[in-house]
Amino acid sequence: MRPRRAERLRRLLAQVSAHIGQEGNIMRKRQPSVAIVGAGLSGIALAHTLLERDIPFVMFEKASEVGGTWRDNVYPGICLDTAAATYCFPFAEKYDWSLVHPPGGEVQDYLREVARDLRLNERIRFNSEVTECRWEGGQWELTTKDGVSATADMLVMATGFLRVPSIPAFTGRGDFRGPQFHSAEWNTGFDPNGKRVGVIGMGSSGIQITGALSQMDCQVTQFIRTPQWIHTRENHQQSRLERSLFKMLPALGRRIQNAREEKIRRSDPKLLKNGEWRRFPGPGREAAFQAFREDLEAHLKDPVLRAKMTPPDLPGCRRIPLSPGYYEAIQRPNVTIVRGGIDHIVENGLYDSHGDFHGLDAIVYATGFDAHAYFKPTKIFGVSGRELGERWTSGGPEIYRSLMVPDYPNLFVMHGPFAAINNIPIPLTTAEMVGYVTKVADYIAEHGRALAPTVEAAKAYVHWIQSSMDGTIWATDCHSWYKTADGEAILWPFGRQEHTAMLGELERADFADFPSALSEAVRSR
Ligand code: NAP
Repeated sequence: MRPRRAERLRRLLAQVSAHIGQEGNIMRKRQPSVAIVGAGLSGIALAHTLLERDIPFVMFEKASEVGGTWRDNVYPGICLDTAAATYCFPFAEKYDWSLVHPPGGEVQDYLREVARDLRLNERIRFNSEVTECRWEGGQWELTTKDGVSATADMLVMATGFLRVPSIPAFTGRGDFRGPQFHSAEWNTGFDPNGKRVGVIGMGSSGIQITGALSQMDCQVTQFIRTPQWIHTRENHQQSRLERSLFKMLPALGRRIQNAREEKIRRSDPKLLKNGEWRRFPGPGREAAFQAFREDLEAHLKDPVLRAKMTPPDLPGCRRIPLSPGYYEAIQRPNVTIVRGGIDHIVENGLYDSHGDFHGLDAIVYATGFDAHAYFKPTKIFGVSGRELGERWTSGGPEIYRSLMVPDYPNLFVMHGPFAAINNIPIPLTTAEMVGYVTKVADYIAEHGRALAPTVEAAKAYVHWIQSSMDGTIWATDCHSWYKTADGEAILWPFGRQEHTAMLGELERADFADFPSALSEAVRSR
């Protein structure tokens, strides 16, 4: 990554001009203060914009460093499964990645470096888990686990959507004598070599872990309840020369990598037109299905293994894991695939749902996350005093633009229900959400009133999304973290353009306003 001197200078100039504006009485506004919960990708992106606009903020992070998902997931084989060229912040471009899908550690180093360059660490309260947020006296009051409290005009929950590990309540789990842990809580002291390791699950995590373990001196048994379609896309390595060149000349890196991606997208029916086939039925979708089927057949010649690994649902209904080497991995002699569920666990292994015993020295639960936990377990109380998690549990997710909630003024849930976590690179959607947060901040500074969407506006938003899901691949039948327990896809059924338009304007008529602790300051300006 380039030392971002130009970026720093630009930020400094923006701050100086904001200061001159205030001192010179050109626009004497009190900026609202912002509390950000979570110092992962979204939190960092927002912090950058707030710094640039000289908006005061504080960040709370429950862990001891930044990075979110990339800090937590350190299992062997983890790598970025979208193209790295689309995974950097516009304000901190990076194209000198080692691979098109770089290892997770490289992504974490990048996030750490960005936070350091922004001097964010001085602003973040590490090891500080926010347990409760309350709208009180026209502002948010936050309390942390250790009883520290803080107030802010705006509250942004940037807590990530794949954060709360989910381990099913397998009978006998407590009896197992060996190491056992969730994929996102990898025991870094555990050495798989010489061991019999059971991996439960075949999502992106289970696939990457099995692939990595297959290359070690261990016996791997992967337990697969529902096989997945896999994208076997190659992971292109960037040469040293390319990396040095792209580090010196990010604009060149961007051009070359975007052109490469475009070429691949044009020639691969599985990616065609940015995966538009997932939104619309038709020949594009048929071609993609055919390509997935052919890929499976080409890689798995053994009919028994192929039948075991053939998914029961349509490609794309669940998120498609990417792995160039998984099909090869499961044909190595040290890998066994068991198709079926888990019946119960015992001290030295487990019984599968067919009643067969598997002796194991360690168990990895690659069993996914509670993707609908959003900000939980933090309790958030709005104007009516009602707790938001409970309100959503009993009444369904009431959300406006996947970001704001009626009765919870100046609250933002980054990547909330129906967010575009399925079809647009996360840094892009994050940047647009951040833009929306600042639009609300501008309104608050100008008018001294807090904003929350009306119930009608939130209902209309949810209805618009739900009624547009028909015909998309996500509306087909499968079991996935994309869906609620009732089987409803809780996703963004449109593309990038619609996303940009949706967050482009603040539609004042969609909001109710509330007294804000800023009111006095604004009245007296
Ligand atoms: P996941 O996709 O939700 O997969 C969970 C797996 O556990 C599924 O195979 C599921 O089987 C299985 N499972 C759950 N409960 C089970 C039970 N009671 N008995 C047997 N099997 C059970 O979780 P994930 O692999 O952690 O991936 C989640 C998401 O994280 C991915 O889709 C991706 O968005 C993200 N991710 C990204 C990367 C990356 O970029 N490199 C890496 C990892 C994860 P069923 O299908 O039968 O339920």
